[in-house]
Amino acid sequence: MYYGSSTENDMDFSQFVIMFRSLFLEGFARPLNGVRTIIKALQDKYRSLGGIRKMRCGVAKIICDEKHVQKLLLDDGSEITADKIISTAGYTETLRLCDTHKNQEAETNVGKLTFTETITLFKEQPKDLGWKDTIIFFNQGEDFKYEAPSTELVDPRSGVICLPNNYAYSNDENLEYGILRITALAHNQQWFSLEEPAYQKAKQDWYTTLQKTALGILPGLKETQAEFAARTIAKDMFTPRTVHKFTGHINGAIYGCPDKVKDGRTHLDNLFIAGTDQGFLGIIGAMLSGISMTNLHCLQSKE
Ligand SMILES: Cc1cc2nc3c(=O)[nH]c(=O)nc-3n(C[C@H](O)[C@H](O)[C@H](O)COP(=O)(O)OP(=O)(O)OC[C@H]3O[C@@H](n4cnc5c(N)ncnc54)[C@H](O)[C@@H]3O)c2cc1C
Repeated sequence: MYYGSSTENDMDFSQFVIMFRSLFLEGFARPLNGVRTIIKALQDKYRSLGGIRKMRCGVAKIICDEKHVQKLLLDDGSEITADKIISTAGYTETLRLCDTHKNQEAETNVGKLTFTETITLFKEQPKDLGWKDTIIFFNQGEDFKYEAPSTELVDPRSGVICLPNNYAYSNDENLEYGILRITALAHNQQWFSLEEPAYQKAKQDWYTTLQKTALGILPGLKETQAEFAARTIAKDMFTPRTVHKFTGHINGAIYGCPDKVKDGRTHLDNLFIAGTDQGFLGIIGAMLSGISMTNLHCLQSKE
């Protein structure tokens, strides 16, 4: 659930199948330099084929009539026309951009599940501290609850501890510093309403709580937070607000809407959805989704 379910206390069966394969049959993987390795490869290929990537210039409006998108209006006032449009901004997020003929049904299909994640960089490799695991899924509650916290900003009872240094990289290479990531479920509204000083304080307080939880769970080294802080080189934490800032997803919902739009179609005949709201999981899922939707809606119809 932590690695892909957009449904509270449940998981879509098709997503479960993908996750089961990834976890138990294939195993997770990570490039040494993280996701930017994948983005760079895609970007180089896209540019080599004549694709143009426009940055810092969002789509302000999708100008449409009842059935058809006519053009896109960009933040800088310029316009783009295309026969077919594939959006990865999210299903409801995309439909909200339509200037007329809004699809009100989509408003009920909004993701509620979001997370905070702390990151701590430290001097040693985790193995040298006795931390040999790569990913630990933990639950300290009586039952496992995979749902948005109802009052608190974070639910620290369950979560994921990840030590990316412990992936099997080729040629015995490894990351320069030890990295400890702790992910936990977060409230999807309250982080957005905090004033800046309260927001910074909440980040600090929850960083401390999550750090304490993880240090209590990790085998090997048993240190107090103060002792571990002495090893720490840098730390930060993302919240639903961070996710929203960088992705635009409503509520900062990382896995998007609960009812996936499997055929990628919208109420407009030349506007399609790809990415997490179409239905595949994570980074690889987003790529597969883009490939499938382009093949289905753009390339096949050209043949
Ligand atoms: C911190 C974090 C860590 C993660 N770690 C992993 C991991 O280790 N492995 C994994 O597999 N998955 C991970 N995920 C999940 C993974 O990133 C997502 O599943 C995936 O990125 C979804 O892809 P997407 O294309 O659907 O949406 P996004 O990657 O969210 O892309 C949406 C894009 O739409 C753009 N956009 C939004 N509105 C507009 C607009 N109006 N005009 C123009 N552009 C717009 C946004 O700027 C953004 O670039 C992580 C997610 C987060 C937030």
